Amino acid sequence: MANSQDRSQGRSGGIVSGGAPEAATYTGNRALQIEEPLIFEMGQAGRCGVDLPEPPKVKDRLNGLRRAGEIGLPGLSEPQVVQHYTRLSQKNYAIDMGVYPLGSCTMKHNPRINEKVARLPGIGDLHPLQPVSTVQGALELIDRLAHWLKTLTGMPAVAMSPAAGAHGEMCGMMAIAAALEAKGERAQRKVVLAPESAHGTNPATAAALGFTVKPIPANDRGRVDLAALKAALGPDVAAIMLTNPNTCGLFESEIVEIAQAVHAAGAYFYCDGANFNAIVGRVRPGDLGIDCMHINLHKTFSTPHGGGGPGAGPVVLSAALAPYAPYPWIVKDGDKWRVAEDGAKVDGAPLGRLKAFHGQMGMFTRALAYIMSHGADGLKQASEDAVLSANYVMAALKDVMSPAFEGPCMHEALFDDSFLKDTGVSTLDFAKAMIDEGYHPMTMYFPLVVHGAMLIEPTESQAKEDLDLFLGALRSLAAKAKTGTAAEAFKAAPLYAPRRRLDETLAARKPILRWKPSNNPPETDPLKQAAE
Ligand SMILES: *Cc1c(COP(=O)(O)O)cnc(C)c1O
Repeated sequence: MANSQDRSQGRSGGIVSGGAPEAATYTGNRALQIEEPLIFEMGQAGRCGVDLPEPPKVKDRLNGLRRAGEIGLPGLSEPQVVQHYTRLSQKNYAIDMGVYPLGSCTMKHNPRINEKVARLPGIGDLHPLQPVSTVQGALELIDRLAHWLKTLTGMPAVAMSPAAGAHGEMCGMMAIAAALEAKGERAQRKVVLAPESAHGTNPATAAALGFTVKPIPANDRGRVDLAALKAALGPDVAAIMLTNPNTCGLFESEIVEIAQAVHAAGAYFYCDGANFNAIVGRVRPGDLGIDCMHINLHKTFSTPHGGGGPGAGPVVLSAALAPYAPYPWIVKDGDKWRVAEDGAKVDGAPLGRLKAFHGQMGMFTRALAYIMSHGADGLKQASEDAVLSANYVMAALKDVMSPAFEGPCMHEALFDDSFLKDTGVSTLDFAKAMIDEGYHPMTMYFPLVVHGAMLIEPTESQAKEDLDLFLGALRSLAAKAKTGTAAEAFKAAPLYAPRRRLDETLAARKPILRWKPSNNPPETDPLKQAAE
């Protein structure tokens, strides 16, 4: 990113690479696409956005530890700061801007009622260190959400504190380890089975807890190969970690038999619940024989992902694992709620503690608002619409792209790259060309069981006409690729994005995470000069 800050020369040059139409503007901006330097590059010594009186002279109590040099904050006016961050915010592609078909991530609409409720002063201004007598309503809210999560999954207990899906996996697998320990089988059962299509966090969780991961192959229907699974089960197996619907977007139709075989071998069944949004209101995982499952509130229950706020990954637990749920436990004594913190006597043997405080209160509030505003019928319809949308995508694209498996899908449509064979266009090129069409690409190269995978999850949020426009764009890209003469154009994509193809390998191997001031003398500030 070679942005020169030399205003006398303008900022253009270096903003695009790879033989694109070089922006020939003085500023480097293109229409309303503003070329944005770092705030540190924009800052000027001596400029300040506030006008405070000189602090009174006070006795130095720092005992010689007073900072000697400048703190190095960028100097900007208030409008400069506001404009900078507003422009940055507009560089984000967001679910509030358009179709966001990232498979497995469930980028669904975040209803505004959730945001409104989470900002009510009695909720938004809570502090986790407040006396328990002042947060009775908040504790009841957590318990209400826990109640609905247990009801929707058909499970007797839930650990609310994990802060993400992966954290929930850790929690659930630690509960399994604790149950094995209590039975004296922890040393003997060292193996965790995970299908080849598993999300990377599954084997990572198992390995982090000292288990050995044994992959289970998929059959040609994209489901777990039951015979291979049965052959792998034995007295050394602690658990299976299985996603359902799985990461190919398919329901594991033999899941009950899988659960029976796993339990018959003395092992536990961890279900990765990241795709619960496809079956809420239709299937209760507890009825399928699972022992624990995390629920990504930021996927299934629409709380914002990542930059929009922290995630939350509560874990529902079977009766066998419930005693090991981590602290804190939210307990009701008579008509008063209390928080049983580390070491408190509870009706079980908690495995310890996974995080500070009680979980992600803001996310709990949003998820509960989502559940209550939808009601039982609405939740069921959201799942059905998500599945309908994905099958619509599948039906609309199957003649021009190549579905990875035959038959209908659940909430996401999976394609392989065989439709691009001999075109010179790769899955990556195809995804980059989608950016030029104004779409965030789908999930690429995951799951690993499918060559050049493209996983499209439309969710229930998109209007049909918006989905149609998206599908039209994909159809036109597929047709263009198949002419066999478009490889060069695809390799150059994206043409219209503020940045072109970045060197992703270099960025991953040698990330530059810190801005360093250049050796150039700071620019003179014309305003300051005028004042002097
Ligand atoms: C998202 C996801 C996870 C991990 O959840 P995080 O909340 O991102 O930690 C695990 N498994 C699957 C299948 C997922 O899609």
